[in-house]
Amino acid sequence: MKIIEQIYVDGAFVTPEGSERFELFNPATEEKIGEVRLGDAEDARAAIAAAKRAFPAMRRTTPAERIAMLQALRDAVAAHADALHEAMATEYGAPQSFLAFSVPHASHVFEVAAKTVAGYTFTRQIGNAAVVMEPVGVAAAITPWNSNIGFICTKLATAIAAGTTIVIKPSEMSAIQTQTLLEALHEAGLPRGVLNLVNGYGHVVGAELSQNPGIAKITFTGSTTTGKTILRTAAESFKRVTLELGGKGPQILLDDADLDHAIPHVLASAFRNSGQACIAGTRLLVSERRLAEVTSRLATAVSALKIGPSSDPTSDIGPMVSARQWQRVQSYIRLGQEDGAKLLAGGEGRPQGLDRGWFVRPTVFTDVTNDMRIAREEIFGPVLSVLSYRGEDEAIAIANDTDYGLQSYVLGTDAERMRRVAGRLEAGRVVLNEAPADAQAPFGGFKHSGIGREFGPFGLEAFLEPKAIIG
Ligand code: NAD
Repeated sequence: MKIIEQIYVDGAFVTPEGSERFELFNPATEEKIGEVRLGDAEDARAAIAAAKRAFPAMRRTTPAERIAMLQALRDAVAAHADALHEAMATEYGAPQSFLAFSVPHASHVFEVAAKTVAGYTFTRQIGNAAVVMEPVGVAAAITPWNSNIGFICTKLATAIAAGTTIVIKPSEMSAIQTQTLLEALHEAGLPRGVLNLVNGYGHVVGAELSQNPGIAKITFTGSTTTGKTILRTAAESFKRVTLELGGKGPQILLDDADLDHAIPHVLASAFRNSGQACIAGTRLLVSERRLAEVTSRLATAVSALKIGPSSDPTSDIGPMVSARQWQRVQSYIRLGQEDGAKLLAGGEGRPQGLDRGWFVRPTVFTDVTNDMRIAREEIFGPVLSVLSYRGEDEAIAIANDTDYGLQSYVLGTDAERMRRVAGRLEAGRVVLNEAPADAQAPFGGFKHSGIGREFGPFGLEAFLEPKAIIG
């Protein structure tokens, strides 16, 4: 049993004023595995005060000094890779395929930020104006549970790259992963107050960070509903806001696609991280002409997927993070059937042979129309909706007929055609045939999927203000 009693303020682990406790579970066994003592609004204010004290010195640092800090953080996180792997597997139940990406990713983002700083021009001349890119002021980060260590590291790395200080409020559901990461980050020896982290509820600690005038910048990853609340609250003190929100990604399977390659990609995108991914491609758009062939291949491929705990390296799909998330996914599987979609694979209840743990059956619906709730709302579980289209124009119209616009996918064999389709999609990212993403490429959403971008120069500039010194 892991009991987490402290938060991190002004370079030290300290006991919070808040005394409420939150229970932590292993989602693969439903057993209680820990407890975290939560901070409150007063703790958030103490963390903001520490970040404000540290800001003047941080804003004067040179790019070279910040690169050195980023490299120290990268090394510290990389040195704890085994512990992070273990914490994520136990508290979160992520399949090994996701762990193999996300643990190295957490240290890699510091390296990416260091490269961005090295290649970035902080002062440039525009006519008679010397334009200086200055750090925006003290930042706050609020993160979700579904890729906890990666989000904390990305937001911390960007703050440091920009020369500012930060207060982080991670999801209360990921406290063991957070604590393991914090112990690593502490070893990097950052100046006091540059990094502060307060465990707590969103409506308590998150709300204080959103409204406190001492915070100049909020960077949030989480649901669209919470993002809206934060945006409204932050408006009062004109905070700069980056929002990374939900998605309902379309995957357009062009009629020239090679199905031997495309079908595994389709399922990997749809069921990524057990379907608990904002970038999951959860709407598959298939040409009517190839619908029968595609659905038959999907049925076979889904039946071969292994559902099981993280400890089994052959598991493709792990449990949902909580009982509540399990219920939510069940309710959408029920709703899809009530709305007239047909079950091709999966359905309600637990997978055969798994009588405990918040496991769901990977589910594929056919005969889905884009007005059904399963096609419009983010489910956040392994549920794929298959929709048919008659021609390229209709495929694009269906793909864009959504409030979301985070990540879309185009699968085919004609590169020029795929790029043409990508050019017409309303999304922050379009991935062609599952090409790997460049680490400096911007990430973020159109429409209700968010505001602003992370990574590379676009992510850095979201933490900077341009100042023109004229004459
Ligand atoms: P959530 O919105 O419920 O919570 C996210 C964070 O916000 C948590 O730390 C929570 O405590 C906090 N919070 C809740 N209410 C708040 C309030 N009133 N004020 C301030 N903070 C508050 O999201 P979740 O369930 O933890 O995560 C899943 C969601 O995150 C999904 O919608 C998913 O698409 C989204 N997500 C987006 C991205 C992206 O990069 N676009 C990445 C991962 C997850």
